[in-house]
Amino acid sequence: MRVLLAGGAGYIGSHTAVSLIEAGHEVVIVDNYDNSCPEAIARVEALTNIQIPHYEVDVKDKAALDAVFKKEPVDCVIHFAGLKAVGESVEKPVAYYRNNIDTTLTLLEVMKENHVNQIVFSSSATVYGAENASPLYETMKKGTCTNPYGWTKWMMEQILSDAAYADKDLSVILLRYFNPIGAHPSGTIGEDPQGIPNNLMPYVSQTAIGKRECLTVFGGDYDTPDGTCLRDYIHVCDLAEGHVKAVEYAQTRKGVDIINLGTGTPYSVLDIVHAFEKANNLKLNYKIGPRREGDLAVCFSNADKAKEVLGWQAKRNLEDMCRDSWNWQKQNPNGYKK
Ligand code: NAD
Ligand code: UDP
Repeated sequence: MRVLLAGGAGYIGSHTAVSLIEAGHEVVIVDNYDNSCPEAIARVEALTNIQIPHYEVDVKDKAALDAVFKKEPVDCVIHFAGLKAVGESVEKPVAYYRNNIDTTLTLLEVMKENHVNQIVFSSSATVYGAENASPLYETMKKGTCTNPYGWTKWMMEQILSDAAYADKDLSVILLRYFNPIGAHPSGTIGEDPQGIPNNLMPYVSQTAIGKRECLTVFGGDYDTPDGTCLRDYIHVCDLAEGHVKAVEYAQTRKGVDIINLGTGTPYSVLDIVHAFEKANNLKLNYKIGPRREGDLAVCFSNADKAKEVLGWQAKRNLEDMCRDSWNWQKQNPNGYKK
């Protein structure tokens, strides 16, 4: 298959490009480099020994996107393009709604005009809200989000579902990611957050390399075994392989399907800290601080559906995730910047 990756220069998109190419598919990348850079694509090309057609295009720019679709016919789209920082979304809600909703609407319009009927969408566990107790099943009713970022995912799921209801040719796969961490084992591609990281693993690895003084564990008094929050961390290469299965599955059916991509195994923040120390034989400077507003105590998937429907399950363990995150950080202390 030939797959267009909207936002394909980013963290998950770049790893997915590698997995798709390894599985024998072709990729085309469209990205405006809002949160990434062309160097990530150059590294994917070096890893796979394949030249990837790529375009600096804002997915909201309908004419420019249409020109790419005309020049590079594809069978399927994976929609990664979006703004994703929870805290920033609270400060700049309009920018988040504008970018995330508009990219989705524009993609749907351009797909229809170019007779592309398959789309795999990067959704998030955040749409389950606080109402649903873990393990989270795809059959649960969506919950109430606590920030504009989460609402954009909630709304985009709705938009894509309505589009598939109206257009019986459309095949929509909503992938609900849990917590992607880790990097390609080569250490040449990985997560490259701009400024101070919001997410746990980049903060851990930047603390280990000395860019941050100390990791603050957000809350030590939750009702969990060690008092810190539980999450479902998944290796980004497992997640990438899940996308390969999803695009192959999208070809075989119509309508909407929702699929969790997680491991189903929860780990606490302190589990991550200690696993990172052990896997990489180092000591992390950390302290327990106050809770972060909006954090759920526990969030993890039931991962059965992905196994049943896609024949996919995560293969890599927490040690792999910690080793590969550190390998990327060590080789690229400033991310993709030289
Ligand atoms: P990322 O920021 O690394 O990648 C997103 C890419 O989209 C970036 O390269 C960015 O430049 C691009 N982009 C943003 N707006 C665009 C636009 N208007 N036009 C063209 N390109 C645009 O993020 P990621 O971690 O790779 O996440 C990919 C997707 O998965 C996002 O939609 C994100 O919300 C979702 N997701 C991520 C996580 C996570 O923890 N990383 C969890 C759940 C869902
Ligand atoms: N976390 C933390 N310190 C940090 C960043 C995150 O203790 O500097 C915790 C956070 O409270 C949550 C977990 O790590 O329990 C994962 O947070 P992240 O932001 O990576 O993902 P989330 O599950 O919130 O989307």
